[in-house]
Parts: sequence; C-alpha cells; structure tokens
Amino acid sequence: MEVSAGWVLPVDGPPIQDGLVRYENGRIVAVAPGRAERHFDDAVIVPGFVNAHSHLEYANYAGFADGSPFGPWIRTHVERKHRLAPEQMLAVARLGVVDSLRSGITTTADYSFSGAAATAAAELGLRAIVYLEVFALDPGEAERQWLEKRRRVTETALVRIGISPHAPYTCSLDTYRFCLSLGVPVGTHLAESAHETEWLLNGSGPLQAIAPIVVPPTGLRPVASIEPVLGPELLCAHCVDVTPDEVPLLADRGVPVAHCPRSNALLGCGVAPLTLLRDAGVVVGLGTDSPASTPSFDMFEELRSAIAFARARDGRAEALQASKALALATVDAARALRLDAEVGTLTPGKRADLAVVSLAGSPYHPVEDPAAAVVFGGSPDRVLETIVEGQTRYRRTEEEQWREVRSIASAARARMLGSPPLPL
Ligand SMILES: [Zn+2]
Repeated sequence: MEVSAGWVLPVDGPPIQDGLVRYENGRIVAVAPGRAERHFDDAVIVPGFVNAHSHLEYANYAGFADGSPFGPWIRTHVERKHRLAPEQMLAVARLGVVDSLRSGITTTADYSFSGAAATAAAELGLRAIVYLEVFALDPGEAERQWLEKRRRVTETALVRIGISPHAPYTCSLDTYRFCLSLGVPVGTHLAESAHETEWLLNGSGPLQAIAPIVVPPTGLRPVASIEPVLGPELLCAHCVDVTPDEVPLLADRGVPVAHCPRSNALLGCGVAPLTLLRDAGVVVGLGTDSPASTPSFDMFEELRSAIAFARARDGRAEALQASKALALATVDAARALRLDAEVGTLTPGKRADLAVVSLAGSPYHPVEDPAAAVVFGGSPDRVLETIVEGQTRYRRTEEEQWREVRSIASAARARMLGSPPLPL
C-alpha cells in the first residue's frame, strides 16, 4: 500500500516535495519522493497526531458550567456524569473516537472514568493508552476501583490499559505508589489550577465544596505533594501552577508533561510555562483535553493555541515555531507516552499511522513551509484521510457513516442536560 501527496512531512527529517509513504502489514517501509496511485495533490501527509491528554468519554460535555470557577465546574461535571448509564458513556466515547480520527489523531492518552474509552477505541481503530481513573486516599480502595474497572476492559493490539491516580487532591501519595507498582502506564493531573494549590497548602478554597472526594491538605504545593513519586513513569497533565524553581525537579526526574493550552485558558487556570519546561529539558506533548473544558478534540486549534499562548506569555514571536509545535503533537507526545519507537514520525519501521491534510484553497497554498501550512491552515474539515496501523479509519468523503454514532451520543447529552448547572 502507498499514498502520496504534494508534500510529506516526516517530522524526523526535512519535508519531501511530491513524496510518498509506502507501508506493509501496518508498518512504514519507505518514505521517499514519488507518486502513488492514491495521490493527494494539494495536501500534506503528516504523522498521525499523538494526543497527550484526552477524555474520550466527555466528547459532548461541551459548555457545561462554562465560565464557572474550577471548583463549581468540576462539581457540575461529576454530578452530570453520574446521570449516564454505562452504554451511554460508551456511546459518547465512540463519538470521541470519531472526532479524534476526524482531527488526524491516531494515538491518544486517555484518562477514563468508566473504561468505555478502551472499548470505543478498540472498536473503531484508534491507538490508545487508556488510563483507568482512581480516586482514593486509601491504596486498598484504589486497588478495589482498579480491579473493578480493569475487569470491564480488554487490551488489544491497539489499546493498552493503564491507571490514572486522578490528582494530588483526590489521591494520596500511597495511592500513587500503588498505581506505580502495577507495571502499567500511569498518568495523573498535576498543578492544573490555583484552587488545587490552595486546597493542598491550606485546606481552603473552592475545592472544599467537594470535600468528600478530596484528600487532607498536605501543606505543600502540588509538585511537592507528590515529589516522592515523580519520575518518567508518571505522565503529568497540565503543570500550569508550577513555579520556575519547580521546573528543574520535573526535568531532573524525567517527568513527561501533557500541555493542554486551550483547556487551561478556558478554565481560567492560566498558561503553563511551556518555554521554561522545554528549555529545562522536560519532554512535553500537546493534549486537547476534552470538550468538558475545550470546545473540541481539534488538534489544529490546539496547535495554534499553543503557539499563540507561548508567544503571548513570553512576549516573543520566536517562543514557539510551527515546526516545533508540530513536534509537540507528534514525536514529543510519543516520547511523553514512551511510544516513540512505534509512532510519532513517518519513519520506516514505525507503525503506519498518518493523516492527509488538504490545503487546497487555504491562504497557505501554494505551500511555502509545509509545517506552518498544516499548523496554521489545517483543520478537521481539511483532514481527507486518517490511517492507523495501515488501516484507513476515517475518510472525509464517508462522514455519513457516523450519523448513528452522533445521534446516540446526542441522546446521552440530552439526558445530562436534564439537570441544571450548579450555582456559582
Ligand atoms: Zn484531564
């Protein structure tokens, strides 16, 4: 099998004009100049995006408690989520998979409340690490939640199962230790909001309102609260409320970070210190988070936001270039997930995970710099085809086939809307 386009962007090497990608048995065998029978003229072939942080199960939670502070926002989501039956959570997760593929995402690091994300990803062919969420002060309770959720899901060639101790304010250090002892991928949320810091330091602030699910204050900031367990095995999403003197610790310990600029901005949490993290040598991948906090799984919007916020924060246009941003959503995210031997670049030997992005009619066509053209000119509407492990899993021309998935997910959303948002 092979596919060609006006440009191929391998990411680990220079762009190839009029290039092709050849693959066999799910793996890339050649990336070179040439034209295939399946050729896309005004398009760029990129490695499939690696989403470093998602919640597929919240694919249509858009707008819930929008504009509320973090505390009331999270309470509204918890309350509404519990209105769904398991099959409805699966229906929403399927929508999440379709919208991810539609955005050129071929791998996702998904923190999953119910486990439905694993089933949906396996069914529809999205590569994923699904981290089953636990919320527990007592590691015995974490083990009970893990075993109960683990029974519901199956590992497949594409879907690996991990565990997610939710956050330092909902899990104790011993719970983190238990999770890290399992020998499966582990991911958490860390230093997402000032409310988290306020609770951990002083036991005050809006998180008091969810007291039944939070751990006692540690008297420490978030990074210090889980310092003993920080290492390359613990993927940390967000890292917004991180001080400059905490950054070297994250770097020294090899802690991978999932950067979610739209989510952090829209929740009013702030902008993570991307330049500081990267300059210190922290491996950072880009994540869309979910429509619970961002409007979409649109990786192109995430790329543009990452660039805009980094440049605004630093006051320098050089703070983040398009090619570097593209790396955040491909090779760097793959490194953060420790999957870089398999995905993240178009390299012979790696999995044939790729997306074809049309630039026809965009202001970036004819193409001068293909990375900038994809990052600034791309959108899910321009994704013509998404291929995972050599299998076409999404085609722009076949949108119709997802009508039923979308309508069942809409019914689940209607059920959640039956309860009004909680007061501020
Ligand atoms: Zn999250």
